[in-house]
Amino acid sequence: MFSVKNYKKISGNIPKEVTLVAVTKTKPISDVLEAYKEGLRHFGENRVQDMVSKYEELPKDIKWHMIGHTQRNKIKYMASFVHLIHGVDKFSTLKEINKQAIRHDRTINCLLQIKIASEDTKFGMSKEDAFSILTSKEFLSLQNIKVVGFMGMASFISEKDIIKKEFKHLKEIFDHSLKYTSALFTPTTISMGMSADYELAVEQGSTMIRVGSSLFGERNY
Ligand SMILES: *Cc1c(COP(=O)(O)O)cnc(C)c1O
Repeated sequence: MFSVKNYKKISGNIPKEVTLVAVTKTKPISDVLEAYKEGLRHFGENRVQDMVSKYEELPKDIKWHMIGHTQRNKIKYMASFVHLIHGVDKFSTLKEINKQAIRHDRTINCLLQIKIASEDTKFGMSKEDAFSILTSKEFLSLQNIKVVGFMGMASFISEKDIIKKEFKHLKEIFDHSLKYTSALFTPTTISMGMSADYELAVEQGSTMIRVGSSLFGERNY
């Protein structure tokens, strides 16, 4: 169930320039609709199939965010409608997104996922990898994508100091990246912060938070 109370609390806690992406993974269509009725328009899913089936059933002014790790062979299913792909951590993924965007005659916005957590995580690239992509000839020759910023996930721990440092690191990478601005790289977005840590993230410069359980309750997998 969607909690209007928590929604109001979270929106009250963040500046209005910060976009709230409501993460609806594992949740039914009815929950998404309740949030939609309250005015939410940005929704996030981490599996392409789930996002496609929700897209098909729900109002078309919803902006769909792919927040999970993007498998190359699934990009074609969401290329016609996805609003922003957050979890790009390989150049080959960008190339496939570009190819599918061309097929649909549109530009697809992406974020590069940076590994900021100190704990071992599977996904995300280093700052060096990101900057070498953004300045490479091959990247600059792509036609139908735009990289609009970065996404990161902090460690799943309770030490606020460490989480804060990780978010701060992503903001520094963003600031540093501004000098690589080009037709394909227009940095405006830092996607960081979830239910447990969005306040810390916003404090450190997040422009987009991805909140699930605080809005819709715990997930049953
Ligand atoms: C599930 C998920 C979220 C939301 O997590 P909550 O703790 O439920 O707010 C945010 N970002 C990503 C990438 C996720 O997979």
